[in-house]
Amino acid sequence: MDGRQLWYVVANGTEYTLYSMGYKDPASHGANESMLKGGAGGSTPSFSTTAGNYTKWTVSKVESNYRLLNAVSGTSYSALTASSANNNISIVNAANANNYANWRFEKIETSTFNNYWGGSYVINGRRVQKGEKVHIRIDLTTSGPESVYWDNVLTYNDFTVALQWNGLSENIQIHMNNSTIPSGVTPFVVEIIGERYTNDGKHFGITLGKGSDGEVLPPNENDNPRNLHSGGQDWYGVQITLYLNSLKPLSTAKKRSIILHELGHALKLAHTTENSATLEVVNDPRGGYSDFNRVCSIMNYEEDDGNDLYCYSPTWHDMINLRNKWG
Ligand SMILES: [Zn+2]
Repeated sequence: MDGRQLWYVVANGTEYTLYSMGYKDPASHGANESMLKGGAGGSTPSFSTTAGNYTKWTVSKVESNYRLLNAVSGTSYSALTASSANNNISIVNAANANNYANWRFEKIETSTFNNYWGGSYVINGRRVQKGEKVHIRIDLTTSGPESVYWDNVLTYNDFTVALQWNGLSENIQIHMNNSTIPSGVTPFVVEIIGERYTNDGKHFGITLGKGSDGEVLPPNENDNPRNLHSGGQDWYGVQITLYLNSLKPLSTAKKRSIILHELGHALKLAHTTENSATLEVVNDPRGGYSDFNRVCSIMNYEEDDGNDLYCYSPTWHDMINLRNKWG
């Protein structure tokens, strides 16, 4: 089992869009989630990053357990079919559909394979429970030796991407530090600081929790060197350090994706490659789905040798993780 066989299905009325939870073709589609696209008039199905009629499907019941998928197109409805001889899939006229065009859907309990850390936030001396609303305030250090604005590597607008984490879980509400927190609410504070001179060209940031005295918690000693984020513990706050010299040569989009990635850690999301052997991560007992680093996620760990699996915004995978962690 790997990410290419997992789908997130979104209903648009009586039509459905099937999102591949894994990469099918990063070379042509870049860092985006891929939708399954039907072809008009018998063409081969493909993956697309652009929603349109060809990426929508109607699902009709054939037998009790089986469904027929018809691609919605401007001219005809074509049924998705498998081949009896190999694993190829193709489109046939729905009138000619046979058993190989009947599909069985298996609902996957996503909480069994997601990658998020244990521990919780502690606000006013109390652990936040799953299902409670949390207001998170982003505090930027903007002066002194730890300023995030050193050498104009980053601007305020780069940090407002943080708001992309809103709307994915009803319990997570991000506020920039100049916005108003509802009265009577104590926010959980995520502090972001800059580190000027660390520059190995490979590491761009680190997210560490804070303990009850506000001290930054050290990374887990047993941790794999990749995963130095003190995950699994209770956090009274978070400190994100951005390595500005490493970020400097990157594109604006890439810099922003790294801020989003570190904020994902601040929300206790782990790398898609992490498993319970390296951290307190809930992982797939069904076969290492998340070990492939193929899922489209802002939480992919970028290898030194390329970024073709990297995503630039929170994805369906990230939304499911966030909801499984925080409700
Ligand atoms: Zn990371």
